[in-house]
Amino acid sequence: MPGPMTSPSPSSNPLLQPDALPAFSQIRPEHVEPAVRATLARQRARIAALQALDAPSFAEVVEPIEELQHELARIWAPVGHLNAVTNSDALRESYNRCLPLLSEFQTELAQSEALYRAYSRVAQHDAAALTAEQKRVVEQALRDFRLAGVALASKPQQRFKQIMMELAQRGASFEENVLDCMNEWQHHVTDAAQLAGVNSNIVTQAQARAAAVGKEGWLLGLDQPTYQSVMTEGESRPLRRVLYEAWSTRASALTGEGRWDNAPVIADILRLRQEAAELLGFASYAEYALATRMARSSGEVIEFLRKLARAARPAAEREFAELQAFAGQSLEAWDVAFWSERLQRSRHNVSQEALRPWFPLPRVLEGLFEVAGRLFGIQIRERRDVDTWHDSVRYFELSRDHAGRAEVFGAFYLDPYARPKKRNGAWMDQCIGRKSLPSGSALPVAHLVCNFLPPQGDAPALLTHTDVVTLFHEFGHGLHHLMTCVDYPSLAGINGVAWDAVELPSQFIENYAWQPEVLQQISAHIETGEPLTNAQQQQLIATQRFQAGLATLRQIELALFDFRLHSEYRPEGVPDLLALVDAVRTEVAVIKPPAWNRFPMSFSHIFAGGYAAGYYSYKWAEVLAADTFAAFTENGAFDSATARRFVDTILARGGTRDALDAFVEFRGRPPDIGPLLRQHGIAV
Ligand code: ZN
Repeated sequence: MPGPMTSPSPSSNPLLQPDALPAFSQIRPEHVEPAVRATLARQRARIAALQALDAPSFAEVVEPIEELQHELARIWAPVGHLNAVTNSDALRESYNRCLPLLSEFQTELAQSEALYRAYSRVAQHDAAALTAEQKRVVEQALRDFRLAGVALASKPQQRFKQIMMELAQRGASFEENVLDCMNEWQHHVTDAAQLAGVNSNIVTQAQARAAAVGKEGWLLGLDQPTYQSVMTEGESRPLRRVLYEAWSTRASALTGEGRWDNAPVIADILRLRQEAAELLGFASYAEYALATRMARSSGEVIEFLRKLARAARPAAEREFAELQAFAGQSLEAWDVAFWSERLQRSRHNVSQEALRPWFPLPRVLEGLFEVAGRLFGIQIRERRDVDTWHDSVRYFELSRDHAGRAEVFGAFYLDPYARPKKRNGAWMDQCIGRKSLPSGSALPVAHLVCNFLPPQGDAPALLTHTDVVTLFHEFGHGLHHLMTCVDYPSLAGINGVAWDAVELPSQFIENYAWQPEVLQQISAHIETGEPLTNAQQQQLIATQRFQAGLATLRQIELALFDFRLHSEYRPEGVPDLLALVDAVRTEVAVIKPPAWNRFPMSFSHIFAGGYAAGYYSYKWAEVLAADTFAAFTENGAFDSATARRFVDTILARGGTRDALDAFVEFRGRPPDIGPLLRQHGIAV
């Protein structure tokens, strides 16, 4: 008898409309599991048929598998996305119920001996008939089969499978602990003086929040804009300490009576990763991770980080001494951002918060699209008839001229503002991947997600220049996904790109947010419409070098902690996380945070994201990006021949070739750290 418990029929399930953009506003938590189960069942049947084929060709086995992966990503991407930007208990539950199903399926596929044999046969017998791109699809798949344990005996293979499932769940628990801890936290302020200096929009919101629960005064949350504003502008030292302590002990035993403590989750994750690496014959998880990276060995990564640290250290020491002298006191961790902001303002007469009126979001977007147009000959236009998950979300289409007509080749959603139940930070994610297969084609669609301060009333949202750089960065990832000309989903866009090279396009585009002619274009004062003056621009540009030594060391501290953690972990004993943090700080850091700082407990990049043994890739890619941009500036920042070469060798090539080979083809030599050090004003 039909009743409320009946699953929706496939035809009414918005997740099962494979040829359209996701109907985000229609997707309900109860759609998720039936859609995933139906898709997996259908795919399993198709895979069984493929596995039964005798000596199948590339077209008979590789292309269908590419198609299946595309289809599955297409159904799951909207779910993962909604879980990140409109988290609810019901959606989270559906999402978590499906994670093990998907992980099990992916492992099954990756560990299929029949498919491994079929791909090996294609590589041996059909190679002469394949294009370079097709050959690479097969080679990369064979590599991934081996890394997924396909060559293992059945018992260790089962264990490997189980580990992958458990890791997916532990990663989700890690993220939930961080999010719950942030959502639950609040701080009641009753004395207005405590809020001196804090951004007025944040103060207004905090007041509304207090009023909503019948309280006097202000209720501060632990969202990113509030944290940043208090840390950089809050004049009250005690308030800064309260926020700093809450932020840096997130999801640790020191907060919420240990309810969200990630320590046991981390212990599990490290143990499972090590076990998986050893099953495949690697000494450590770091070695396993490097098998798919541009960097060739652990030694190369550690030496790279230490070389940069050595180059940056004298500058960092000088910068911190200057800061303490300026503040006239010895500084604690919660004072550094505040005094840095003041020093920067006094030295360069620039304050991030004071710049907001010059960067209304619509103007910045227009300028950013202009940059993309000049560099790559593309046009970007908004479409307003597309269904989304929130009123503030916008949708843009990319096109280029083709035989005299504008041809759309991709699109992206922009979800710009912070709001409750949305994961913090900024990121690009794939909504739909590009494919051009005999079975059909699809244009790529991306998600660009930021956490900017929402607009007040009818005025447009106003960004800091840091926000502007963030937007350019995520847009760069977006271009990598959208400008791909690769036909096979496993290598299109950012797929199959070495992790440590994947930040190259995003960090490269950041450079344009610092160019005078671009600043001229993206700035227009909200009241006067005037762009930043030349003097303001020069002052802002000078900030790029401000405390560059300290910033470099902070990144290296995180990177070295992550890499050593994943290369030194030994199964006989969980490493003392805090002792390792301390050792790394002793080696690298100039500013020592308090002993109760528990940043690893909320270090989502390496415990819940894809950056395990890979945080170094930010610096690695910065070197690539600065060296790439140097190739442009040698010929002019908008030089079209250089831009074309960049698109042809890197941006449009996805994972179709080795990252180092691609870079060498673009630059004519291997990467050099010189341009990055010069950009930061750190003497070589
Ligand atoms: Zn990035």
